Amino acid sequence: MKFGKGLRSALGLAVTMAAVAAIAPATAAPSSKQTTGNRMEWTTYHPLADIYGYMDHVAAAYPSIARETVIGKSVEGRPLKTITIGDPADKKPGIVLVCGQHGREWISPATCTYLMSYITEGRRASALKDRTVTIVPVANPDGYEYTFQYDRLWRKNRRKGPRCAGVDLNRNWGYKWGGKGTSRNMCQETYPGTKAFSEPETAALKNYFETLKTKPAAVLDIHSYGQYILYPWGYDKVLSPDYKEMDRVGRLMADKIKKEFQTEYSVGNSAILLYPAAGGLDDYAKAKLRVKYTYTLELGDTGKYGFNLPSRYIVPTSKELVAAVTTLDEAISTTQASPQR
Ligand SMILES: [Zn+2]
Repeated sequence: MKFGKGLRSALGLAVTMAAVAAIAPATAAPSSKQTTGNRMEWTTYHPLADIYGYMDHVAAAYPSIARETVIGKSVEGRPLKTITIGDPADKKPGIVLVCGQHGREWISPATCTYLMSYITEGRRASALKDRTVTIVPVANPDGYEYTFQYDRLWRKNRRKGPRCAGVDLNRNWGYKWGGKGTSRNMCQETYPGTKAFSEPETAALKNYFETLKTKPAAVLDIHSYGQYILYPWGYDKVLSPDYKEMDRVGRLMADKIKKEFQTEYSVGNSAILLYPAAGGLDDYAKAKLRVKYTYTLELGDTGKYGFNLPSRYIVPTSKELVAAVTTLDEAISTTQASPQR
């Protein structure tokens, strides 16, 4: 969810959940490939250290296909980590998933770590063949940690300000920055910062994208909640010239999720289906990086629990994400290959 919705209903659970999450140790499922310090499993939400520990584990356990990189640091100095999974000889342009731009959307990093597991430990021969997948599981590590320690519903990063803290990272990208759906009031949830890429988190990702040798075929920005598959433009109720193709592939993803899990995702232009929101990653990827298939996924649910989605939904929601990514891979493999930059 981009902002606001569900806040009141979620507040009641917030303190309890954060307190429980902070003290309850995660139960690590036994695994033959388990390395010391890996506490990851998918029945609870995990703090940043567990997620980063899991990435270290994946990189160590699958050195031939997984490469971990620190691409920068957050405003409070936490590392920003990515992991690229695939064969170095993979020919098809990759898929990049950016997860956790908003701190409180815990289902996003949870499903993105599940995807890492799916592609490595549960690697299917047919799934994502010849294509690398890069995952940024926690694009806002400070905000994510803050939701575990202080405020379950914190959204922005933790930039210090004279009156209020935080910049909305998904309003800080450099296309139509500061336009509709943003607030110049630093105390608001949609404060876009002082300028585009003012924040080290978005600046590091921009630099990462710009230094890729091969332009990605697709960029997915993973949020919650609402069950939407959204495509640009987000800055206003405007459609890109190739929106029909993005709509077609978006519907393939939604149809697959519906068929396999009976979960309904709505597909459409983000400004029309939800509301205009300028300065998002999806618009930037489309306009500036010229990535054809750029989507914002709003995972479950549709509002019953909202941001406080109980952890029993992690695995079912993760399977929906896997279905979306594998369907996307198949769909864009059968259309023309994306040209090299
Ligand atoms: Zn979000």
